[in-house]
Order: sequence, then C-alpha cells, then structure tokens
Amino acid sequence: MMRQYELVERVATYTKEPNEALLNKAYVYAMQKHGEQKRASGDPYFSHPLEVAAILTDLKLDEDTIAVGLLHDTIEDTDATRREIDEMFGEKIGHLVEGLTKLKRLDLVSKRAKQAENLRRLLLAISDDIRVLLVKLADRLHNMRTLGVMRPDKSKRIATETMEIYAPLAGRMGMQDLRDELEELSFRYINPEAYETVMSYLRELGEKNRSITAEISGTLEQRLAERNITAKVKSRQKKPYSVFRKMETKQLGLEQLSDIFGFRVIVDTIEQCYLTLGIVHTDWAMVPGRFKDFISVPKQNDYQSIHTTIVGPSKQRVELQIRTWKMHEVAEYGIAAHAAYKEGDDDFSHSKAYASLRKTIEQLAESDNPEEFLEHTKLELFLDQVFCFTPKGQIISLPTGATPIDFAYAVHTDIGDSCIGCKLNGKIMPVITELQNGDEVEIIRSDSQSPPSAWQSVVVTGKARSAIRRASRQAARKQYRTLGVRILEREFAKVGMTYEADEIEAVLPRLARESMDDMLAQVGRGEIKPMDVILAVNPEFKHEHSDTKSKANSDQSSGRSFFSLPTIMRRTPEKRKSEKRAHIPIRGVNDDLPIEFAAECGAVPGDQIVGILDPDKGITIYPVEAPSLSRFKGDKEHWIDLSWDVEEATKDRFPARIRILAKNAPGTLADISRIIAHHESNIQNLNMQVPVDDFAEFEIDVEVKDLVHLTRILQQLSAQKVITKAERLLG
Ligand code: MN
Repeated sequence: MMRQYELVERVATYTKEPNEALLNKAYVYAMQKHGEQKRASGDPYFSHPLEVAAILTDLKLDEDTIAVGLLHDTIEDTDATRREIDEMFGEKIGHLVEGLTKLKRLDLVSKRAKQAENLRRLLLAISDDIRVLLVKLADRLHNMRTLGVMRPDKSKRIATETMEIYAPLAGRMGMQDLRDELEELSFRYINPEAYETVMSYLRELGEKNRSITAEISGTLEQRLAERNITAKVKSRQKKPYSVFRKMETKQLGLEQLSDIFGFRVIVDTIEQCYLTLGIVHTDWAMVPGRFKDFISVPKQNDYQSIHTTIVGPSKQRVELQIRTWKMHEVAEYGIAAHAAYKEGDDDFSHSKAYASLRKTIEQLAESDNPEEFLEHTKLELFLDQVFCFTPKGQIISLPTGATPIDFAYAVHTDIGDSCIGCKLNGKIMPVITELQNGDEVEIIRSDSQSPPSAWQSVVVTGKARSAIRRASRQAARKQYRTLGVRILEREFAKVGMTYEADEIEAVLPRLARESMDDMLAQVGRGEIKPMDVILAVNPEFKHEHSDTKSKANSDQSSGRSFFSLPTIMRRTPEKRKSEKRAHIPIRGVNDDLPIEFAAECGAVPGDQIVGILDPDKGITIYPVEAPSLSRFKGDKEHWIDLSWDVEEATKDRFPARIRILAKNAPGTLADISRIIAHHESNIQNLNMQVPVDDFAEFEIDVEVKDLVHLTRILQQLSAQKVITKAERLLG
C-alpha cells in the first residue's frame, strides 16, 4: 500500500509546495475510519480510497480533490459524518464528499433500473463541482481495475453500468484515455467470449500485418515527400472494444474488419491537408461514402480533421485522418470529447492527456460563475431540472422548484390524488418542500383523501395542476351529492315520507334531470329545492300538506338553508377549541382530532401552514415562518401538511396577531380601532404596554379574511402619523 510520504511525493512532482498537512490528515483520517474493513479481494478497504487518490495524482489534480478521493467513502461506509468532515477539513471538502455520497445512490439504483441517459443526467446535475465527477470517475476506474474478484453476475452489472454511464461521461469531459480504459475493461466483463475472440484475433493480426503496416506508412510518407510535404504517418493501434463496436455498428465480420488499417497523417498547414487529400485520392481509389471534412466544418468541440478511406498500396482498405499539428493538439488537449481514436503509447503521455482537464478545472475555479462556464464548455448540465428517485429506483425528472406533489403526479395521477404526505430520504417532510437532486421521495397515501385545491398554487408542473383542479371538482361534487342525499332524507322525513332513491330515479324526467348524481349534487348546492323533488315523487302532496306546513318550513325546505351551517367562526378563546374542527377550512387532516390555530400567531389564508400533532391535544396550525415552530424541529414526524380550503367568497375570518408601536397620545387607540373596523376586521384581544414615556406598544389579535386583507390593514396603520411601526407577529 502506498505510504503517506509517497502520496505527498506524487503531488510534489507537479505542485510546488503541496499542502502536506491536508494530505496527511486525510490519509490518517480515512485509514482510521475504514479501520479493519476489507474489500471483496480481502485487501484492507483503505487500499481503495488510496488508489483512487493515486489515480487523481495521475490526473495532476489539486490537494483538495485528492483529499476528497481519500475521504470519498467515509460518510457512506463508516461512522464519519458530514459535520465531522466539515470541522476537520472545511466545508468545501465536506460538500464534495457529500456529493460523492449522494452519487453512491446511483450504484444502488442502477441495479434495478436501466435508465442510462437519465442516470448520466443525474450524475451531471448532482455534480455541481466538476471535482465530484473526477473523483467519481477515478473511483469507478479503480473499481473496474479490481473487478476480477467479484462474482460474474455482479461484475457484469458493474461493467454494464460503466459502459453505459461512466465511459461516455469521461468521453464527454474530453478524457479520451480514461474513456478507452473504462470501455476496454467493461468489454471484458460484459462479453468475455467476444473479448477473448477479438483479442486473440488482434494479436495474430498484429503479427501478420506488421510488415504491411510499415509498408503502408512508408509508401504514404514517400509519396507525400515527393510533393514536398513533410508528413508524420502513424498507425493507430486497434483496441478490442473499438473493433467490436465497429463490427456491431457496421455489421461487419472480424475478417472484413481485419483488412482495415487506420493511419493518421499529420502535416504543417491546412493547405497541406488538402494537398495530401488530393494526392491520396489521386494515387489510390477512394472508398465512397467515407469522406468527411471536419476542417471546413469543425465538430462542436472544435475537433478538426479530414477523414477518408482509400484502397491502399496492397489493396487493403486504409482509413486516414489528415490534420495539422495544431489540430492534433486541440484534439488531444482541448475540451475535445470526441477524438475518435487513441494514439499509440509511444508519444502519448498520460500527463499530457489530462492537461486539458486540469485546465478546465482551473478555469472553473477562477470563474465567477461556474454555471456559465460549464455551459460554455458544453458540459451538459441540466440546471433547470431536478432528478429524484422513487423508492423502487425509478428516476423522475421534474422542473426545478418541483415539490413532492409534482413528483406524485409525475409517477401516476392516482398517486397524486391520494397523496397526503411524503418522506424525503426516509424522513417525513412537508409536501411543499422543494425537491433537490438525488432525493428519494416516498409518497404517503390515503384513499380517503383528495388533493386540496390550494395545492394548485404550490405545484409547478401543469400535469399536477390540472389533476388537482379535476380532483377537487370531483371531490366537491361528491360532497354535494352526499349532502343532497342527506337533505332529501331529512325533508322527506319531515313531511312523513321516506326517501327512496329508486322512486326518485323513476321520476327524474319530471325534474328535467338526466342523472341521479347530477340531481343530488344540485340539491346539495341548493339549485333544486327538496320540495320540488317531493312533488315530483308525489304530485298530490301539495294539496294535502302545503298550506299548513310549507309556510313555516319554507326556509328549511330549501337546500340552501340546510347548507348554511354556521360557517362563521366565533373566536372567543373558550369556544375556539370546541368549535374549531367543524369550521376551520383546512385540508390535509382526515381524522377526528381537534384542530386549532396557534394562539401566539394565528394563521390566515395565504400563509403556508403546517400542523403540529399532539396526540393528546390535537392539531395546532402554524404559519411555516412562525419562529415558535423551531420548538418542534426535533420531531418532524408530528408535522402535518395542511393547506387552506377557502372559497373566494368566504365570510370567514381568521386570527392574526399584530404589534403596533405608537405615540402614547389620547386618541391613538381610537385611531387604531377605527382603522381596523373600517377594514371590516375585528379586534379579539388587545394588550397595551408603555415601555417608555412617549411610546406605547400594542399587541392586538385581529380577525382577517386573508393575507392580503391583513397586509392592507398593516399598511394603513403604518401610514398613520402617530404610528411608528405596525407589523405582524408570528409568535
Ligand atoms: Mn469508492
């Protein structure tokens, strides 16, 4: 195993004064934390983070990143915590290690879900710091290098994931070398038979073709020299996976591929590139359909070269890439992510290969706006999306700002409609919480629930909004229907008849209604009078009874009168508790617990609210900003999502507490009460204190329609000369 001083020495080869203290501290901390843990191979676990750190030194990365490499598995696999790492290594390193901990979830998820593209996106979205990705790639590379000890099924799964996610990611970041190694390693495990076949074939071929390869490059160089072009012609070494991929994508057999030779011709000027092209096309037959000019039309990442295929000197097909030295540099060190082939090992040093990446990171660190920078370098980040998991590992992508309610509807409308709460990463949280990338969301459901219409203003997806609207319409209709039945039962009983659904259904045409449900809902809404229904069933009824009874009962006989249950709350403190439940128009509670507003602040429509459940006392409603809520921080399981269910035209009033600082002068209190009364609000309670001679402080409990109403009152109060300050108190 690499020693502490060896790691420092590695860093010292490319850093003037390495932060030795940091490296040593991370080394010792990770070693102690992983302690006796073993890898599947039987090696001490610590050898893994250490090798990851070593790979990161190959990439010539900074000490912070290397420390993160050492620490990358500590939060997930040991008793280390984010907090401890923050304290010992600073918040920045803590943040990076946590990012890697989050990415670990990907490994678990991809066991079950095959969603490579989404996973790649998630990976990018979580990695707000490019160094998280670099450590993750180094982590994966070391795991791939040591994959041999795993059970074949497991190693195959990990290799598939590497092939689908990590190798393309490395490619996208311009790390062609790393991509090749990941692909070749993966190929071995995903398809061992094909790997062996291609490998042995390539070995044979290499022997057989050694002379042909030399002949082709010799002939090419010579022909070009005759036209005064100094060119370097290099044969491109074939890799098993790239051969295999060609067989697959081009539907060619191994033999057909074997006579394809790849060469790169590097010259000094662009002019010479086209001259070279003209020469090879003149001297040898060109294979149709294989010509591409990326010099006049560069690839998105600035890659430039001419690609063509000719029938070479000994009748083999020869693939050529023609480029200048400068283009060659760009392809190697630029942000290029698509260099199609790798150089032979002769002049392709690892340090050079990663120089561009190092540059990328430095630029990122210097940039004021990393988002803009990443955008600029075409590292596709999906900043406007957030990716979350279902407990089964399905990935749901949502717009930024989405809530668990949006999530529920994105999974299925039924799940949204029955959503009453949620767990985020295992913890119960309000359903209005904004989702973060990588959150695992479990929706708590109840079939007796329908979504509160107020959720329409919380959700961000159109799907959720329209579904909520539809569901609340249906729920309202159902309620009115039930109410209609009750009204009819009562009114029928009053006149000595029995409510029989069948009888009424038979006479629906007399009521000019098509369906029983419509009719009942309309009775519930007060649009059909119960007496009309009675008369429809029994047209004779009026003659027998109406004169004596209907007058006295005229009010009650209409649906409307029944419907106007006492809806205005009387809020004397004693009555609050007893009457609350029937009248507070709140959704999100579906049991028989008493419910009340927090005495110290109240709550009004427009406030986002939560309920705190006390199993003995019931539910107390708080605005989410109420400071007193912090008392309950420790037991989030007692937090209940609530929302208002208030009709626009409501006459209900809701409690709020305000504080007024005013001049202690005669008439001040009268002014205050006048303004409050003028706004059709009531004062429920009033406390006055005189802190200093000239000023008085009032605490007033008022009743208002909603937040807008309250704000208007406060504005007008503040505008008074005698009033220094008028504000809401949130307890
Ligand atoms: Mn690891």
